[in-house]
Amino acid sequence: MNRDYRYWKQLKEELLEAAPGLGIDKLGVTTAEPFHELKERLIRHRERGHESGFEEPDLDLRTDPSLHMPEAKSIIAIAVAYPTKLKNAPVSVPGRRRGILARSAWGEDYHQALRRRMANLSEWILERVPDAMLLPMVDTGALSDRAVAERAGIGWSGKNCSVLSPELGSWMYLGEMITSLPLPPDSSLPDDCGDCTLCIDACPTGALVGPGQLNAQRCISFITQTKGFVDDEMKLKIGNRLYGCDTCQIVCPVNRKVDIRHHVELLPDPEVVKPLLRPLLSMGNREFKEKFGSSSAAWRGRKPIQRNALIGLGNFRDAESVPDIVTVLRNDPRPELRESAAWALGRIATPEALEGLREAREGEESVEVLGAIDRALEQRSN
Ligand code: SF4
Ligand code: SF4
Repeated sequence: MNRDYRYWKQLKEELLEAAPGLGIDKLGVTTAEPFHELKERLIRHRERGHESGFEEPDLDLRTDPSLHMPEAKSIIAIAVAYPTKLKNAPVSVPGRRRGILARSAWGEDYHQALRRRMANLSEWILERVPDAMLLPMVDTGALSDRAVAERAGIGWSGKNCSVLSPELGSWMYLGEMITSLPLPPDSSLPDDCGDCTLCIDACPTGALVGPGQLNAQRCISFITQTKGFVDDEMKLKIGNRLYGCDTCQIVCPVNRKVDIRHHVELLPDPEVVKPLLRPLLSMGNREFKEKFGSSSAAWRGRKPIQRNALIGLGNFRDAESVPDIVTVLRNDPRPELRESAAWALGRIATPEALEGLREAREGEESVEVLGAIDRALEQRSN
């Protein structure tokens, strides 16, 4: 068969028609050229100390598709939309306070959801081009999903650092497949943020240090995923977020009315995505896996979620949870949890909470936890 330009153009048109049947909401194509501009930006980002630490350290791997596949000719970018509204959301009341997971972690783990679609896409291509070389990439941290999606015309890069699709907003999972097929590329979309700065203004921590510039060290989304101690300023900003932060996406006008619910496996279970906080404190590993194992929020294990639950109870000043928090402060072997428990008790500051702090101080050996206990007690005596 003569595979000339018309052949690849026709194949791409057929692929665009087939995409919804493959579970894909938006599909675009870009060349396999290196992402030169992105590399410059990543170098500056690193120099400023704004990386999260979760990134692939090799900037060439992140910006040059040919390092992953020397025969690369094009990259197919896909987007899969996820729901944004929680129907029948349980109410958070004193004594039964609840936390919240970011919308990207609501349904089935997106790694699974995207991998299945990549498998569908590979099968569809190989049926038509058996000698195609295909390399699906799902959150490998290697190529930048956002840069690929932007160049492939899925959306423009918003000031909140999300890719914004006119149809799906930024509520979408992104994945890409490097291919040896010379598919005709799409054009990127014009930036439509205009004068709007709602996301920058709404960010609780000032993590959006400029349009499209994120200091991940101050971003709640990253901080909720760390496993260590969280400083007290950030604890206040975390609120009741257990995993991730959606604020700069929620305020975005492009996102406001978007709620795509046709992928049933991505629909949220309200008790999982807005769970009661107190039961999380004593949750064992098995229980954690049963409750959160199918969500991408589980990728860092239970410790960050339990630490964030303590922070949430402190921010709610939930007096009824004091006995549970005191139990953590006395008995939990993980200092990061005891430190957050001490902070939460200092915020709640009922006589029972202060008593719990004083008692725990006697047997505590961790410098960080002792510091948190002393700060909590000092604040109350001032
Ligand atoms: Fe700010 Fe939250 Fe957006 Fe991070 S995710 S930039 S903390 S609003
Ligand atoms: Fe752009 Fe405004 Fe959305 Fe921010 S909130 S990404 S500035 S449209």
